[in-house]
Amino acid sequence: MPELTVALVGNPNSGKTTLFNALTGARLAVGNWPGVTVERKAGRLKTARDVILQDLPGTYSLSPYSSEELVTRDFLLQERPEKVINVVDATNLERNLYLTLQVMEAGRPLVIALNMMDVLAKQQNRQINLKKLGYALQVPVIGISALRKTNLDTLVATAQQPGAGQYPYPEYDPRVESAISMIAAQLTAYPEADRRWYAIKLFERDTQVQAQVTLTPQQQADIEQTITTAEHLFADASDSIIVNARYDFIARVIAMSVIDQGDFVESVSDRIDRVVTNRWLALPIFAAVMWAVYYVSIQTVGTLGSDWLNDTVFGAWLPDAATHVLNAWAVAPWLQSLIVDGLIGGIGAILGFLPQIMMLFLCLGVLEDCGYMARIAFVMDRLFHRFNLSGKAFIPMLIATGCGVPGIMATRTIESSRDRRMSIMLTTFMPCSAKLTVIALVAGTFFPHQSWVAPSAYFISILAVVCSGIYLKKTRLFAGPPAPFVMELPAYHLPKAANLARSVWQRAAAFVHKAGTIIFLSCVALWFLANFNWRLQMVPQNQSLLRTLGSLLAPLFIPLGFGDWRATVATVAGLIAKENCVGTMRIAFGPGNFGDALRATYAPMAGYAFLVFNLLCAPCFASIGTMYKEFGDGKWTWYAVGYQTGVAYLLAVIVYQASQLIAGTLTLWGGGFLLVALALIGYGLLVKRERHDAPVLA
Ligand code: GDP
Repeated sequence: MPELTVALVGNPNSGKTTLFNALTGARLAVGNWPGVTVERKAGRLKTARDVILQDLPGTYSLSPYSSEELVTRDFLLQERPEKVINVVDATNLERNLYLTLQVMEAGRPLVIALNMMDVLAKQQNRQINLKKLGYALQVPVIGISALRKTNLDTLVATAQQPGAGQYPYPEYDPRVESAISMIAAQLTAYPEADRRWYAIKLFERDTQVQAQVTLTPQQQADIEQTITTAEHLFADASDSIIVNARYDFIARVIAMSVIDQGDFVESVSDRIDRVVTNRWLALPIFAAVMWAVYYVSIQTVGTLGSDWLNDTVFGAWLPDAATHVLNAWAVAPWLQSLIVDGLIGGIGAILGFLPQIMMLFLCLGVLEDCGYMARIAFVMDRLFHRFNLSGKAFIPMLIATGCGVPGIMATRTIESSRDRRMSIMLTTFMPCSAKLTVIALVAGTFFPHQSWVAPSAYFISILAVVCSGIYLKKTRLFAGPPAPFVMELPAYHLPKAANLARSVWQRAAAFVHKAGTIIFLSCVALWFLANFNWRLQMVPQNQSLLRTLGSLLAPLFIPLGFGDWRATVATVAGLIAKENCVGTMRIAFGPGNFGDALRATYAPMAGYAFLVFNLLCAPCFASIGTMYKEFGDGKWTWYAVGYQTGVAYLLAVIVYQASQLIAGTLTLWGGGFLLVALALIGYGLLVKRERHDAPVLA
């Protein structure tokens, strides 16, 4: 049977990923914000293996302002899928149809999947007449719910019908149409079916298309003449003329097919939004919610599971059982130490935090799936805008609370390359799941009864982002107005257990997998370094190679309160994977009660400074590699890593030395460090600088 390629396009948040998963049985992450689908993914339909479904990044338009839009547009035009399914959010019809029209301009056969019909059914104030909508657009419209999997068979059957989805081009204002056809008449070198699309793009003065199309100087002059005439006629720029023409068309379609009963009836979502996005209440509510999430997962409920794993399973059962068996087999002492102290100790110290991590992702999953996190991006936009940043930058950061790598990749939704570079630099300030182990270790060991510690890590990250934004926007590398941020606010709905279970499971599986691979290898290497000297003799930890190496760098961290070889090597090993900060400490302290050893070595605020430094400093190599890929440039990568480490250092100095000041134990040189750090940060934030528009490091 010949294969059929069906492309899936739609606005971010229209439910594309949910539909893709439902039709193909894949398990891509579902998210409530744009940027979740950053790359193309393909899969075969569960019910018809000859149909290949190509998921394209979510976009609002096909103008090439962002990488998403380009990927989607190039796919439609160059790969020419046999069918396109356009996922349209029925609760946001006007806005979604804007993309639909552009897809129709590209001329590929189209079927509209009108999604979220379950939500629409509950909204008493609005009905969509699907037949009339289909008639107005001249394309098949199938009402579905991707989430509840309703009517998906009809959708697939319609997409499979040969010949279905052909339509006449949407016709715009006659004056626009005549300009378009005059331009199209110059494009004789192109197949007839494509001329209209190229003509519209030339009319819009789309620079990409201008560069692609070969025209004689005479043709160029004629086209320019047509465009300027239209611009005079409409007293508007040509690209706005097209935008308006599309919206006029949409208004006609809506008038024909949508019945609004009492536009003024406020839905439940609107009422909730009035409170949670309120100008004054939004941020305090967000702070309270995140405080509760971190407190519950890291310092209360999640801790019960972690304490049991740490104290009982990895602290007693496993090492005791292993020692027993290894003794019975008369295994060499060095191998026993490797297995018990290196592997069970090192990996166990990390895996012990799994319940806390799962609890955190469950809470974040609920917030995301019910629609609250989408509101936060919107609220953050309001805050960020004041500092000349775009709320778009916040979405990668939300994603980075799972892992920095997809977070950095999600910056691709940001059109302006300056804002995008800045977001790449700032995204990994967020606490990812690996850094949670450090947060949980410090909170649990030094501050078991202080509820502010774990949540404070999240707020320090946000503070670092906002302050960096203020500072960087003043430098000539990043100056410039922020990009506008448009985002759908989906109606609130109850989170779905399957979505939650999937997201928690994926995070947990990734965490355990990492513990079994990269962390396993790190633990073997670190155990070796922590138990042998230069002459390869087995020695106590404090005579080991690791101590020698750590002692070389340790003085750097004295102003931060943890200038000790163990915390130093832990920080360096954190570059391989942040979980190593915990595993390395465990191995470096050797057998015995880990918590007691930590408390005996570091003051609580030194522990907290360790947390702040490792939260903000250079991320792990995987994230640095992704930064390099996304910057496409080593110079920028070095710059970013240097900046992050610098910020981490200054903040950790301030945290530690300020605590010394408060306790009345500030030394002279400590005070010097504190003053210098405060002065540098104050200078970055307060000094006004001249704006330059051209980036120098481009
Ligand atoms: P994408 O950005 O277009 O890929 O959208 P997603 O598939 O990530 O969906 C965005 C949100 O809408 C998720 O929270 C989904 O659970 C939810 N969603 C998707 N389809 C439906 C639907 O048909 N009904 C309801 N109620 N929610 C849906």
